[in-house]
Amino acid sequence: MELVRPESPADATAALRAGGVALAGGTELVPLLRDGLAAAETLVWIRDAVPRGVEAGRIGAGATLAELEASDAVPEALREACRLAASPQIRAVGTIGGNLLQATRCWYWRLKFPCALHGGDRCHAREGEHGEHAILGNDVCASAHPSDPAAALLALGATVVTDRRRFPVAELYRLPSDGDRRLTTLEPGELLLELEVPQPEASTYLKAMDRQRFAFAIVGVAAARFPEGVRLALAGVAPVPWELDGPDALAASTPLPGTAYKVGLAQALVRRALDAVV
Ligand SMILES: Cc1cc2nc3c(=O)[nH]c(=O)nc-3n(C[C@H](O)[C@H](O)[C@H](O)COP(=O)(O)OP(=O)(O)OC[C@H]3O[C@@H](n4cnc5c(N)ncnc54)[C@H](O)[C@@H]3O)c2cc1C
Ligand code: SF4
Repeated sequence: MELVRPESPADATAALRAGGVALAGGTELVPLLRDGLAAAETLVWIRDAVPRGVEAGRIGAGATLAELEASDAVPEALREACRLAASPQIRAVGTIGGNLLQATRCWYWRLKFPCALHGGDRCHAREGEHGEHAILGNDVCASAHPSDPAAALLALGATVVTDRRRFPVAELYRLPSDGDRRLTTLEPGELLLELEVPQPEASTYLKAMDRQRFAFAIVGVAAARFPEGVRLALAGVAPVPWELDGPDALAASTPLPGTAYKVGLAQALVRRALDAVV
């Protein structure tokens, strides 16, 4: 395996277009490579090529979660989502770009069961162990998206800037279908460069975990108030970060037997998040 160290976005893009795989903090990619869930002949170390700045309205994709958590320029929902993610050690090296593109934590996928997300014809979690899985958008794959910051950025209405386009963060993700099992819309070799993050009047992120620290969200709820209204988005409830039209939208949930408890939990957190921002 080769490691290349481009110093500009253009050089990084060239290396990625040639088939390289982007390596930022490595907290996600390295375990995936080790476990045979990802493959790379060339790793492209992007830390010197991707912006890292954190300022009002703009965040470099190479900024670490620890940098975001500590910055007054970052809206509260995103700061809190970063603060509640992972451990201090992981937040010190894990970048926001890598966080948005992390793979599912579904244990069947991580153990290489030939499930729908791996291209197979069934979801093993549906009939198996699925207590941490999805309650929405779960017909093909019932995994629960693990990123806290993604939910915060969705509620904040952030825009993603890549080496080739700009688009709302909602369009970074897609539900898998029978014909296409991908969970993101990035093109091969596309490089995240920056996030444009509007400043809300108020925002918050609440997270239910099975212990108080160092756990993925059972349910995470981000709320952001803008002059035109409050936007809500959830982590841990669907295969992708989930924008919620309002608290009543959870009535349309399609929980599995083992995830029914998440519906009431999400409803309670949504109510608390709304109380905190209005
Ligand atoms: C034990 C553990 C607990 C965790 N707990 C939580 C949690 O509670 N909540 C939460 O939200 N997250 C959690 N995480 C996820 C953690 O936040 C991510 O692992 C980290 O942010 C990934 O960033 P990285 O820079 O290390 O990414 P890398 O591992 O370097 O990359 C991850 C993926 O993103 C791609 N990539 C990275 N940067 C770019 C870019 N700029 N453009 C294009 N592609 C890119 C890589 O190719 C790779 O596919 C946890 C992780 C671990 C290991
Ligand atoms: S939830 Fe998704 S990743 Fe997990 S077994 Fe089902 S199809 Fe695979």
